[in-house]
Amino acid sequence: MTGRLPTVVILGRPNVGKSTLFNRLVGRRLAIVDDTPGVTRDRKEAEATIAGRRVRLVDTAGLEEAPPESIFGRMRASSEAALREADLALFVVDARAGITPADRAFANWLRRARKPVLLVANKAEGKAGGQQALEAYELGLGEPIPVSAEHGEGIGVLHQAIAAALPAAEAEAPAEEEREQPLRLAIVGRPNAGKSTLLNALIGKERMITGPEPGLTRDAVAVEWTDETGRRVRLVDTAGMRKRARVARGAALEQMSVGASIAALRESEVVVLVVDALLGMDEQDLRIARLAEREGRAVVIALNKWDAVADRAAARKRLDDVLATSLPQLRGVPVVPLSALTGRGVEKLMPAVREAYALWNRRVGTGELNRWFEAAKERHPPPVVDGKRIKLRYVTMPKARPPTLVVFGTRVEELPEDYRRYLVNSFRETFGMPGVPIRLQLRETR
Ligand code: GDP
Ligand code: GDP
Repeated sequence: MTGRLPTVVILGRPNVGKSTLFNRLVGRRLAIVDDTPGVTRDRKEAEATIAGRRVRLVDTAGLEEAPPESIFGRMRASSEAALREADLALFVVDARAGITPADRAFANWLRRARKPVLLVANKAEGKAGGQQALEAYELGLGEPIPVSAEHGEGIGVLHQAIAAALPAAEAEAPAEEEREQPLRLAIVGRPNAGKSTLLNALIGKERMITGPEPGLTRDAVAVEWTDETGRRVRLVDTAGMRKRARVARGAALEQMSVGASIAALRESEVVVLVVDALLGMDEQDLRIARLAEREGRAVVIALNKWDAVADRAAARKRLDDVLATSLPQLRGVPVVPLSALTGRGVEKLMPAVREAYALWNRRVGTGELNRWFEAAKERHPPPVVDGKRIKLRYVTMPKARPPTLVVFGTRVEELPEDYRRYLVNSFRETFGMPGVPIRLQLRETR
């Protein structure tokens, strides 16, 4: 896909101020906005720059003139097509008129569409405006963003929220294309942990060396195979890791280094860290795991040589203790005990990898996200610093791979580290994302 701009669609019932907001965001006067041929008649669209990002903005106002029935039915019919193309929806309500049954029905439908949504409470100018806007909370689409499209109030905050909710610039590939891409895997760990043995156990005779390739580290090769579910898996293998080459060439062994692990995990999406269960997890293993987390990769631990472990309960406990104390940032990371040598337990590895990959890719809808956020804040309100409470207003999830949260509020830079960690862990637990690195960014709103 080249040059596709992220699409922001403005939705809402008639008269809430969609056209006015559209013009405000585009920064031009209505008269200049053309109907674009080839799209639904009457749909207005234009390019706009929102906090430095170019976006395609679509106004659905006027679509309500389509055949009647209830207001909601009309809105829905006309909005469906627009929403399908949207990367983000701005759902506009009228803060002065209050929430109507049509707004409620529309919000319910919108929540089910599983698109990122920002709730915009328009006509909220002046002092009373912000208060009136709060009523829109009940729609369950997160915190309403009060604006006055006509008077230009609150537009800066809205700009920031839109920019944060858009997919990241480099991640604008279509979902279908993504699915066709092989899952990129790295198998890392200390020398002698059993990486080569595990690779052979995983892919057996199917092994196929396809490198060297452009885009990979020099001298890197990729091994590609199809797993039992038909998913293509590409193992990124760098020169430093290529000990299995001895199988083919009888060449001298190359020692696996942390440096090679870094290169491999940068090229990968999921990292399998092979740990020798006889030795336990040591500093070098931890260093690789932390690195994988810092690079934002999904991690699965293969606890290898399980066949040779005498006291399995003790070995497992030892590992869990190390993980709890030394790797809290990957809380709940999946551990698969296995024996690469005998093949026992190896069949559990790829399901764990696919699961980690799915979680790493997961996006949480705006409504669900903000319900979690409100509950988390209620359980532990943000702390008071210098006699003033830090205000956290709302949260968006602009991207996955790894899951990234952006929290908006005031004085956010003063938010203590342990509160940030609390939010991340609470998110992790609520949405079941054990072992997935989670990014939390904070943005100041006015
Ligand atoms: P649409 O049908 O949703 O596209 O709504 P319009 O943009 O045509 O606006 C409907 C009416 O609301 C117009 O009379 C606008 O002038 C008015 N309006 C729009 N934005 C605001 C606002 O921020 N404050 C107030 N008080 N009125 C507004
Ligand atoms: P690498 O350096 O990480 O690639 O490790 P290798 O795959 O070369 O394995 C190192 C040594 O551990 C070899 O002697 C393997 O036979 C042995 N090994 C690998 N996996 C297992 C296992 O599951 N159980 C046992 N008992 N030994 C293993």
